[in-house]
Amino acid sequence: MSLFGRFRRKDKTGTVKETAKGAKNEVKSKPVPPVSGGSYVKTAGSVSAAQLPPADLGELLPGAPQNGKINLAIYWAAACGGCDVSLLDTNERILTIGDMANIVMWPIASDGKEHDIAEMEDGEITVSIISGAVRNTENEHMVKLLRKKSKIVVCYGSCACFGGSPALANLVPGGKNEILDYVYKKIPSTASFQADYHPNSPVVPQAKYEAPEGELVLPTLYDTVKTLDQVIDVDYFVPGCPPMQESISHMLKAVADFAYNGVALPPKGTIIGVVTKTLCEQCPRRKEYRRITKIVEPHEIDVDPDLCLMDQGILCLGPATVGGCNARCTKAGQPCRGCYGPTTAVQEQGASALTAIASLFPVLDEDATMEESKVIDIMTTIKDPLGYFYAFTMGKSLIKKSVTEKGGK
Ligand code: SF4
Ligand code: SF4
Ligand code: SF4
Repeated sequence: MSLFGRFRRKDKTGTVKETAKGAKNEVKSKPVPPVSGGSYVKTAGSVSAAQLPPADLGELLPGAPQNGKINLAIYWAAACGGCDVSLLDTNERILTIGDMANIVMWPIASDGKEHDIAEMEDGEITVSIISGAVRNTENEHMVKLLRKKSKIVVCYGSCACFGGSPALANLVPGGKNEILDYVYKKIPSTASFQADYHPNSPVVPQAKYEAPEGELVLPTLYDTVKTLDQVIDVDYFVPGCPPMQESISHMLKAVADFAYNGVALPPKGTIIGVVTKTLCEQCPRRKEYRRITKIVEPHEIDVDPDLCLMDQGILCLGPATVGGCNARCTKAGQPCRGCYGPTTAVQEQGASALTAIASLFPVLDEDATMEESKVIDIMTTIKDPLGYFYAFTMGKSLIKKSVTEKGGK
């Protein structure tokens, strides 16, 4: 079975020819077209412009493909639902997605059970769009099942791409037991519940429970939260928390171009919706590269609307973040928190941000004005350094995990 089944097209003489879409040597694929104003994909070594106009899906989808709709699955693993909602940012284009695809699973919006997917043939799903990190047995089972049943898997959103906020759980030294203990026994609301109803033996969720109706099973948490590509093979990546509308429309355009027009898919591993430069290069704020002597939060000062936030002492991860969102946060007066992830030149986004900030302290000048103790004083004013610098990328960090040394430190 070819990727999109059989399709028919007219040659120059008007003769209808039938070929298998996506089958090598059968479809003469057109090259991936350039997007006016900038490229929408990043592959190793490519350089793209900064502007990312949305793709016009309306022109591309004049009803269903000639040989029937493609099968589309949308699944959330450890996710907040924002990525699912972002798919609706396609506005009226969502109607053309309905023309193009049978949605075989989308837990937030339609039916489609695990057993429905399990009963499908391998490769029967054309595209699975998966958001969220992998942090429990159900997440792992479902993403492996969808990988088996899908031709294309899209890793969608920062949690799936880099671990996102769920992966900050990797910083809890005691892992899942410490988390469950805290959540179900120590926070005020649950502590009060346990005191009232289970004073002698607090309860936490059990993986299995024998109910009169039969055995009930809950997913089991993992000690380490993983990114999607640490668990399954992934074809494309769409970063962002959530991804921008432009990224979404370009992802769908790539699929639609392939389904309708025989255009080659982008190379495997393509990151959709980013450019190769840093966010700073998309940011319109004036950069003066001032020295930092004090770190502040935006609400603590009258923020200059035109000046770089770092110049004003506000921590901004723009220098360590790949461009693509067109600086949506800094244009709105908020610092970048790095949700699009690092550039390809950087392995560690958090360490890269720390380096960028450290370079702004007046300690390396010929006439250094800041002592080491003063630097430490300033850095300790950052309330949650790991949480700040790895808000989205802990799952991909070299740090990996917090552990407790023998002796309890
Ligand atoms: S990437 Fe952001 S919007 Fe998407 S699931 Fe994670 S937290 Fe939610
Ligand atoms: S550090 Fe932040 S505010 Fe400054 S130029 Fe870069 S992205 Fe813009
Ligand atoms: S400015 Fe930074 S945090 Fe905001 S959307 Fe862009 S990459 Fe994400």
